[in-house]
Amino acid sequence: MTCLWFLSLLAYGLTILEGVNCWIYIYSNTNKTYDDAEKWCHNHNAKLVAIQNKSINGYLNETLPHNPGYYWIGIRKINDKWTWVATNETLKQEDENWATGEPNGKEKNEDCVEIYVKRGKDDGKWNDEKCDNKKVALCYRASCNGSTCSGNGQCNEGFNNYTCECNPGFYGRNCELAVTCPAPSIANGSVACSDPSANVTWGNNCTFTCEEGFVLEGPDTLQCESSGNWTKEQPSCEAVTCSALTPIANGSVTCSNPSVNVTWGTNCTFTCEEGFILKGQDTLQCGSSGNWTEEQPSCEAVTCPAPSIAHGSVNCSDPSVNVTWGTNCTFTCEEGFVLEGQDTLQCGSSGNWSEEQPSCEAVTCPAPSIAHGSVNCSDPSVNVIWGTNCTFTCEEGFVLEGPDTLQCESSGNWTKEQPSCKAVTCPALTPIANGSVTCSHPSANVTWGNNCTFTCEEGFVLKGPDTLHCESSGNWTEEQPSCKAVTCPALTPIANGSVNCSDPSANVTWGTNCTFTCEEGFVLKGQDTLQCESSGNWTKEQPSCKASERPDVNYVYVGIAAISASVLTTAAFFLWLARRLRKKAKKFTPSSSCQSLTTEGSFQHVGRTV
Ligand code: CA
Repeated sequence: MTCLWFLSLLAYGLTILEGVNCWIYIYSNTNKTYDDAEKWCHNHNAKLVAIQNKSINGYLNETLPHNPGYYWIGIRKINDKWTWVATNETLKQEDENWATGEPNGKEKNEDCVEIYVKRGKDDGKWNDEKCDNKKVALCYRASCNGSTCSGNGQCNEGFNNYTCECNPGFYGRNCELAVTCPAPSIANGSVACSDPSANVTWGNNCTFTCEEGFVLEGPDTLQCESSGNWTKEQPSCEAVTCSALTPIANGSVTCSNPSVNVTWGTNCTFTCEEGFILKGQDTLQCGSSGNWTEEQPSCEAVTCPAPSIAHGSVNCSDPSVNVTWGTNCTFTCEEGFVLEGQDTLQCGSSGNWSEEQPSCEAVTCPAPSIAHGSVNCSDPSVNVIWGTNCTFTCEEGFVLEGPDTLQCESSGNWTKEQPSCKAVTCPALTPIANGSVTCSHPSANVTWGNNCTFTCEEGFVLKGPDTLHCESSGNWTEEQPSCKAVTCPALTPIANGSVNCSDPSANVTWGTNCTFTCEEGFVLKGQDTLQCESSGNWTKEQPSCKASERPDVNYVYVGIAAISASVLTTAAFFLWLARRLRKKAKKFTPSSSCQSLTTEGSFQHVGRTV
């Protein structure tokens, strides 16, 4: 920096050596004592010159005009030490610029210092002089003032120069320029600085924030340093990424953004293979915080409802607790139960069984029933199940045919064929001789409650009850009766006569003719022939033999009667014989007067020839 110097001669008795932005030198046009020179400087806002470096001595020598009295400068002996009056600092030895032989202190009180200008010897050097001597006051004024360095630095005076020692953050000749940092910027984010002006200057703080879904990488706040650099590298907003999803077993995942790093807003949808079902949310979203909205789901094997069956058991191809897709389960029933439904089911991929689960229904036997009877079962429910015992009983007049108790077997069959109630029958009646029987029910087997009535032919009388009743026990109420031949009372032996009966047996039965004859000399009184009637009475009273008065006549009659009887008997025999022969010729065509037994249990009258 070069100072442009110029000399101004003013009417005020001073001359100013002024440089732009440099030390300003002023000197008086008259000579003054040291004290007056100081005052004069003071009055001109200056001080007796201080020599910052030795080059200034030469400069002043060259620049200032010659004055025989020379110029006072700002060095004075104070407390026996050469001291800069402007700063009250002791003169350093290295700064000393004494003329040859000086300071000699030749005269007393040579306590003030002058500078030789254009002396011709020791030009620009110093000499100690008496302070009362009069010389030109050489003053200087600093060019630095409060605004020299724009208030942003320290102004340093210098010969022919001044410098601004800028405060941190400023630069330029007069520190008029503020240091700026590179404009802060951040993609997907924003910056807020303490000084909102366009250029970010030293000392400003800038805070970086990221948009949603982005996260700051680097420091969030930077300060613009006095060097014009940021304290650290500017941060960046990196897209938020969520943690990589774990590969899902037995399923797959598809994301809206197929890049490796899953960023904010990406949706990932999970699906499961057949036979597996998603547990958890099917779609996850990568949140702006870098977390997934939900926990990752998993594919769980589809399970069907646990198979179970009452009164039976299940056997599955996969014996694990949870029945998974594809497992076959076979159902079987305990004894006495039968499966209703499919015996084998498969667990489908949707978690449903291929068919409705079957059930074990108790085996039932056909409903027991019996006509004319009743059944009493150990289990009174409608359906007769396995193990039930049923006892059959018959109504009165009926008897059980078959087992009285049946058990319902586990096969659903009765242990034996169901019994039946058969009507009770009484024993067949023996055909009654000389009689007949008529029953209320004409069927072959006489059943309970039937009555059979017996009747006898003429000449026979019933011995026993005329009517039998077939009881519910199958027995007749009484023994079967019989037809006994009617007998007439025994004939009293006839006195003086004899009797001759057609039936010589002891008991004279119906139809028997008994003929009475008297001994000679006796005559029969009464009917000679009596017949035993069907009522058991003789046709007439028994005759008697009385002594005869005319026995001859009687004998003749008797003889005639005997012959006649013989003839009649013979004729009757031949007549009978002739009839027999004719019958044979007719191949035994039954005659109306002679019938035989035609139906069992019913008897018709058997003809009897008297
Ligand atoms: Ca001297």
